[in-house]
Amino acid sequence: MAAAGLSLSLLLVVLAVAAGRAAAQDYDFFYLVLQWPGSYCDTKQSCCYPKSGKPAADFGIHGLWPNRDDGSYPQNCSPDNAFNPSKVSDLLSSLRAKWPTLACPSGDGLKFWGHEWEKHGTCAANVFDEHGYFQAALRLGDQLGVLAALTSNGVNPDGGYYTLSQIKGAISQGTGFEPYVECNRDEAGNSQLYQLYFCVDAAGDSFVECPVLPSGRPCGNRIEFPAF
Ligand code: 5GP
Ligand code: 5GP
Repeated sequence: MAAAGLSLSLLLVVLAVAAGRAAAQDYDFFYLVLQWPGSYCDTKQSCCYPKSGKPAADFGIHGLWPNRDDGSYPQNCSPDNAFNPSKVSDLLSSLRAKWPTLACPSGDGLKFWGHEWEKHGTCAANVFDEHGYFQAALRLGDQLGVLAALTSNGVNPDGGYYTLSQIKGAISQGTGFEPYVECNRDEAGNSQLYQLYFCVDAAGDSFVECPVLPSGRPCGNRIEFPAF
């Protein structure tokens, strides 16, 4: 009897450890990455509007990426846990509006969302299942209101040029958080506002100051904000 009880508790411990392992946290925070569609589309490579039509002239979500404090990041953590659109059926219209795909050929978004879930989302299985991952990214993006922060501080998507501190200042003032600003180049070679990186705590819950900034594509100090 005592032996049976002991082996049962051993089994429970083993199961708990195994479950803990499957969902161990291997990151320290998230980047919420937003993209400006005007800057995705006016490059040499160009873009394709999604099948649902031209997206709103607003920042769209690129992804919610678990990241480590040393700048490295886990990826493709659960090859068995492939994206299943039926798990996010209630979110699809919000995803189409707030997380539009602009890559060519024109798609319905499932490929983009699937890529983000499989590469990044599966590495945050300790806090998110598939539905929770997309719901959190949508909520965080809505909470920020980046475009309103920019325009209410005089930074408009009108093809004009702004300094890095104007852009960061406007966003900090309007949202309370300063993003990392990533630029790309338009067809003429001008540096332009492409992506914004905000940091979110490891629970995927609240914005925090970034523990480390991503490396790559600095902007210079004359930054175009193209129309879309
Ligand atoms: P990541 O750069 O997040 O690893 O990969 C993005 C992938 O999603 C690429 O394969 C890219 O072609 C695809 N993709 C589809 N739509 C978009 C989009 O609107 N923006 C970006 N950045 N990538 C997209
Ligand atoms: P790119 O080389 O275009 O900057 O990034 C390609 C892809 O690598 C991104 O879409 C993203 O999936 C991943 N990636 C690039 N930089 C980072 C980073 O700093 N943190 C994380 N978590 N992923 C990144």
